Amino acid sequence: MNLLLATLDWYAALGVDEAVSETPWNRFDVPARAAAPAQPAVRPGAIGQPATAHPPATQPAPPPAPPPQDRPAAMPLSDAGLAAELDSLETLDALRERLERFEGCALKATAMHTVFGEGPADARLMIIGEAPGEEEDRKGRPFVGPSGQLLDRMLAAIGLAREEVYITNTIYWRPPGNRTPTQAEVQACQPFLRRQIAIIRPEVLLLVGGAAAKTMLQRNEGIMRLRGRWAEYDPGSGAPPIPAIATFHPAYLLRSPAQKREAWRDLLTVQERLLATHG
Ligand code: URA
Repeated sequence: MNLLLATLDWYAALGVDEAVSETPWNRFDVPARAAAPAQPAVRPGAIGQPATAHPPATQPAPPPAPPPQDRPAAMPLSDAGLAAELDSLETLDALRERLERFEGCALKATAMHTVFGEGPADARLMIIGEAPGEEEDRKGRPFVGPSGQLLDRMLAAIGLAREEVYITNTIYWRPPGNRTPTQAEVQACQPFLRRQIAIIRPEVLLLVGGAAAKTMLQRNEGIMRLRGRWAEYDPGSGAPPIPAIATFHPAYLLRSPAQKREAWRDLLTVQERLLATHG
């Protein structure tokens, strides 16, 4: 492999998968040259905006501003206005269409596809994972990589076909290099996920992995403490709470097969609940 290809490979492994500017810009150089105390100028409601320093006229000139496309996109907080708008969407198709037009999560710019979720709109079980990975991003479908294959086997073990279950994630776009999504990214996607749950109204929510469990149950404990116990997800708007249970993420189980035993127990608990309500 020549040096150029090897360098590109190295960038890809680090999560550098988009060129955002024609000209390089040394961000490490900025604090040294713009010595004035920073006066952040952040647009109201914007998260992830770089603070803009305004040095006094006597200071050396700051480096030229990066071209506009070099700045991260504004990421508005999930707001009541968006939630109210989404409340008027009655179908998953309408929600998906609105998500495709949503510009409030910067991850969309680096992802190949929006991974909305899949499964029947009247699924009794809804599974929520953390974030799409490489394979999911390429195909635009949740849990289709190695974790997904294990998830399919876990479902089959309790008599469920993947096609009977609704599967999605806490965020809809792959974070570059599969890094952990930030709080702001998760929050930006929440109004959509909450509406998705409200439309499907599953009998049981299965949260796979610590990230999904903490986000959906609004808890701080790790997965070791959260898994295997029933909790309640509050869908809001006076709707009844939905029983929710967390288990280990299949990616973790692939690395730590000894924990499959506990995950198996969690799945049996889910099966028991589903059998008790409908048989
Ligand atoms: N891991 C997740 O959490 N979700 C996916 O869709 C794939 C891998």
